[in-house]
Amino acid sequence: MTKFIFVTGGVVSSLGKGLTSASIGMLLERRGLCVRMQKLDPYINVDPGTMSPYQHGEVYVLDDGSETDLDLGHYERFTNSPLTRDSNYTTGQIYQAVINKERRGEFLGKTVQVIPHVTDEIKSVIRKLAADDVDVVITEIGGTVGDIESLPFLEAIRQLALDLGKENCLYIHLTLVPYLKAAGELKTKPTQHSVGQLRQIGIQPDVLICRTDRELPLAERQKIALFCNVPVEAVIEERDKDFSIYEVPLSLMNNRLDELIIRKLRLEGVGPLQLDDWKELLHVLRNPEHEISVAVVGKYAEHRDAYKSIYEALDHAGIAHRAQVRVQRIQSEQVEHQGAERLLAGFDGVLVPGGFGERGIEGKVQAIRFAREREIPFLGICLGMQCAVIEFARHVAGLAGAHSTEFDKDTPHPVICLLDEQKQITDKGGTMRLGAQPCVLQPGTRAWEAYGQALIHERHRHRYEFNNAYRQQLAEHGLVISGTSPDGRLVEIVELAKHPWFVAVQFHPEFKSKPTAAHPLFRDFIGAAIQRRRAPGELAASEA
Ligand code: GLN
Repeated sequence: MTKFIFVTGGVVSSLGKGLTSASIGMLLERRGLCVRMQKLDPYINVDPGTMSPYQHGEVYVLDDGSETDLDLGHYERFTNSPLTRDSNYTTGQIYQAVINKERRGEFLGKTVQVIPHVTDEIKSVIRKLAADDVDVVITEIGGTVGDIESLPFLEAIRQLALDLGKENCLYIHLTLVPYLKAAGELKTKPTQHSVGQLRQIGIQPDVLICRTDRELPLAERQKIALFCNVPVEAVIEERDKDFSIYEVPLSLMNNRLDELIIRKLRLEGVGPLQLDDWKELLHVLRNPEHEISVAVVGKYAEHRDAYKSIYEALDHAGIAHRAQVRVQRIQSEQVEHQGAERLLAGFDGVLVPGGFGERGIEGKVQAIRFAREREIPFLGICLGMQCAVIEFARHVAGLAGAHSTEFDKDTPHPVICLLDEQKQITDKGGTMRLGAQPCVLQPGTRAWEAYGQALIHERHRHRYEFNNAYRQQLAEHGLVISGTSPDGRLVEIVELAKHPWFVAVQFHPEFKSKPTAAHPLFRDFIGAAIQRRRAPGELAASEA
């Protein structure tokens, strides 16, 4: 039968619960178990799709089109667990389901309450992931123990141990053990309090994963064990990783977390841990043969999590080439103020990511023009592709004032617009195109070379599209349409033939990149950047 692991967090937020959960999933998978991953978010928004990247970081999109928490990105990068809309629920969705049932009269006149109706709903979404072939479901509870919002979720996972049998459930609590400089000591009290709060609501954690910035000595582990009522071998140190997040699974392995979980849950059919490829990728990261720099020119450059998957995908591409990719985040508005030459000269590659809203658009267009004219490898993603089309229309095809109708309703040349604004296609609305969609590649193009196949599937999240009315005109000026929807009506990829590497895509390739399998477009983009760095003339120019 399927066993359940619940991961909670205490003391402070941002402890890296997502990464830790993903690492646990990975260790179990690498011991031959079949794992499913899930995140429950206590906020009331129905999904993060409407939340600002400043508030919530990137919105991670799944194949099925669900807009989810960025922790799901860690799950996909670390494990092979297939993710669907059942992999991420919020309080908003749970309440919506309960209220819909109430409206349909399914509660037969009863008073609808948090316990049992909301908790039943939560339990049912957790149990949904259990199946004959699934060994372990790992459910991460967002937020911090002690938050009002998390209470129904904690109550639901408490009840699940009663419903399923305690031997089938494991509670892992992630906590902080801070070092107090003034005292010169690691402090265990916050952990004691956080576990105290969990115990008050009836949850005795089985395993404590202690985030620290230094070694957690045996004496501290014994103290935590005693006060928190867990065996000392279940007090696991997880030290800060200043080198790479990909070290987390190895550090948990060194602290024997996989063995502990397998023993406690009495998991059967496990094999030895297979982590050779993972160790190899860390070796490559530590011993790069090249170093290149890439400018990511976006609206939310100052926010580390806003383009999380893009930064990760750049790292993966670096690993594929044994290269260290130094990423500089540049706010597109700064390009408007200071000019592309000043900010972008010397970079080996320029990437313009996706986004919404007008702020900084002209800066992106300037950055793309610079990359095109100076022959710097360029990758445009979603809005970055739309800006590349605008730039090409304005400066190569001579269509002055060309724009997207998202930013200028009255543009004389709406090269990017909503589908229903395109006269020849009137049967589709202007709603968001979400999730994995097929795309056919033109043989002989850079995109085709990268993928090495003619039919691909990539994830989308946008409303606006390339305007087919301009297709011929732009193509005549040298814009290569290298990927379209199978019916040919939606332009998915554009590129330039007379440029070392200039590819812009309407979809989000960053969501399908893995540390051990770099995305082909990111891989070739970084490959081109390495080429540019190697070319002596260019190198001298960029170092001058
Ligand atoms: N704002 C653009 C659109 O809606 C691009 C969206 C994106 O980059 N994700 O089409």
